[in-house]
Amino acid sequence: MTAIFPPSLPPSAAPVAGALPSRVVLASGNAGKLREFSALFAPLGMELIPQGQLGVPDAEEPYGTFLENALTKARHASRLTGLPAIADDSGLCVDALGGAPGVYSARYASMQGGEKSDAANNALLIQSLAGQSNRRACYVALLVMVRSEHDPRPLVGEGIWWGEIVDAPRGDHGFGYDPYFLLPPQGQTAAELDPAEKNRLSHRAQALRQLLEKLRPGVA
Ligand code: IMP
Repeated sequence: MTAIFPPSLPPSAAPVAGALPSRVVLASGNAGKLREFSALFAPLGMELIPQGQLGVPDAEEPYGTFLENALTKARHASRLTGLPAIADDSGLCVDALGGAPGVYSARYASMQGGEKSDAANNALLIQSLAGQSNRRACYVALLVMVRSEHDPRPLVGEGIWWGEIVDAPRGDHGFGYDPYFLLPPQGQTAAELDPAEKNRLSHRAQALRQLLEKLRPGVA
């Protein structure tokens, strides 16, 4: 009997069983993230190609969840390059602000008429928390890998990194909200942590560990 399904599976849609792809597009143009991801992927022997190097423009991020945005970005990069793609969507969720700025972390101040910069975002964050004693917050990272645009089984890793927002900035490393994000176990902000330590503990590192677990032979 002739198989009628799938009618014509594009070769690039075939699952990569148990093997790490050697070349993967990274669907991000954020310099801070690129630095951290390159360090995290270096030991795996995977060549991470920033999508900008392949002429891929940033995708829209229209959704209200990190997961939907990450999946959309990964699909977009894979569709335009024909390569497997990894995307992350990340941000800061502050308890006392009902989870804000959340998926809007990069655009927090600009959505309220301010400029699109880390300094403006941090100023608005501290202003929004004035007089607030609950400083609990977490960084969230959703990491999605698709083997092709039409991959029916995207691989997903999620990382949550809990901390507290402090009023005065500390430290020169990292990016974004790091100088205001205190890690109680370390007694340091994310910007005071040695970059290698941040890469070990961070929401992105946690999400990557989950994703890599799913790429293991016999699991993927
Ligand atoms: P995305 O590029 O849409 O995922 O936006 C991520 C935004 O969340 C960044 O621009 C930062 O504002 C914030 N963010 C995510 N991860 C970190 C981090 O590790 N440190 C500081 N800020 C972060």
